[in-house]
Amino acid sequence: MALEVFNTLSNRLEPLQPLEDKRIRMYSCGPTVYDYGHIGNFRTFVFVDLFRRFLRQSGYRLDHVMNITDVDDKIIRNASQRGVGVREYAEVYERAFFEDMRMLSLQKPERIARATEHIPEMARLIARLERKGFAYRTEDGSYYYRIASFPEYGKLSKKDMSGITDGARVDVDEYEKDNVRDFALWKAPKPGEAQWQTEIGPGRPGWHIECSAMAMEYLGETLDIHLGGEDLIFPHHENEIAQSEAATGKQFARYWMHVRFLLVEGQKMSKSLGNFYTLRDLMLKGHKASSIRYLLASVPHQKQLNFTFDGLTQAAHAVERLRNFKLRLETGHFPAGDTPEINALAQSTREKMRVALEDNMNTAQALAAIFDMLRESNAAADAGKLLRGDVEALQPVLQQFEEIFAVLQDDDAEKTRQVLEWARAEGKLADDTAALPKLSKEEVEQKIEQRQQARRARDFVRADTIRRDLEQAGIILEDTKDGVRWKYR
Ligand SMILES: [Zn+2]
Repeated sequence: MALEVFNTLSNRLEPLQPLEDKRIRMYSCGPTVYDYGHIGNFRTFVFVDLFRRFLRQSGYRLDHVMNITDVDDKIIRNASQRGVGVREYAEVYERAFFEDMRMLSLQKPERIARATEHIPEMARLIARLERKGFAYRTEDGSYYYRIASFPEYGKLSKKDMSGITDGARVDVDEYEKDNVRDFALWKAPKPGEAQWQTEIGPGRPGWHIECSAMAMEYLGETLDIHLGGEDLIFPHHENEIAQSEAATGKQFARYWMHVRFLLVEGQKMSKSLGNFYTLRDLMLKGHKASSIRYLLASVPHQKQLNFTFDGLTQAAHAVERLRNFKLRLETGHFPAGDTPEINALAQSTREKMRVALEDNMNTAQALAAIFDMLRESNAAADAGKLLRGDVEALQPVLQQFEEIFAVLQDDDAEKTRQVLEWARAEGKLADDTAALPKLSKEEVEQKIEQRQQARRARDFVRADTIRRDLEQAGIILEDTKDGVRWKYR
């Protein structure tokens, strides 16, 4: 079997065959840094991370570019409202985005490309489109893409574009599907707006031209894979195709992969419904970064994910079970020898995880496989039948899992502390204790038992980490000669 992915362009599953064997040229649309990232954004970024990790595990060399959109309509509007420059404004949210990436254990792409650092490349591409008759200049010095000149327009979003009016224009970066018009490639300077001097005159780029210019700059005229959230299919990705393919005469991206948006408690996330959450909002409510990553990763990217607080609690339990299992393998005492059953289980779990992910990244199936292994191995251990050789067979399977899912390393308390510190510095915290992770009595006792296990195994670093975690959660421990006593602060 080989990796198969669903290609939005062909509307079917296809075996992934890169242009060059074992090398993947990949572009994913990054954030527009006008505000803190919300969990809908992060569903896409977590998927891109899982996919990256799986490609690398499968032996591919990756050239992955992600853009940072640091100039667009929203940034310009917000920066001017705040009375600061565009760069000054965007910088804050760009930094926050990278911190959020770290919170969610997202690997950095090989290259991050900032829009404002590639303005000459964009101007050059627009000039090329104009020379070939795909772009025209208006009186004020703006440039538009002439949709009627590109008959394949609509091939990604499968919209019938035959009724378009030649010459009708739209100059905002984001617009509705029924608003198919010539779109802005370059916007003439307006008073008070950021502008650049270029070979096509002064002004600033539209959003769509950024990605075409930067993707081709670093990855060549034809990429293997282009990824993004499903909300980008139209107009953003449709426009990227139109711009790139008109300029080069070649296919722009061979595989288009899109991540479905998420619902929150069964509803579309929106500020007016009060169910709009940034990553930081959730962490300040006491949810761990690892639970959020796990929940976002647990549903395959083309299925709708209903993000609920119950789901987050279940995700926290799942992560805890996995960590306990890892700890048990590390610190338990197992007799010498091995059993064929457990060795076979380890082998088949490795295989099942790989096959699941090769099936268009079926993460749910991969998780089911690891939990089956966990259940059977725990049962064997409870019965005293797990042997040292078995443990040695199981550990690499956990490692294979961790390379993709990245939730076993327990640095949640430290991450929560960092978000708290940020919130305090920003004056976003009325009451410090509101942000403490809420541990149930059961969870506290489980943690204390883990600490005792770690101490018995003389793993004092781990024991200490657990004590600090508990402190962080407002739990006070007292070691007495009768054992450990605890109370809520
Ligand atoms: Zn893009």
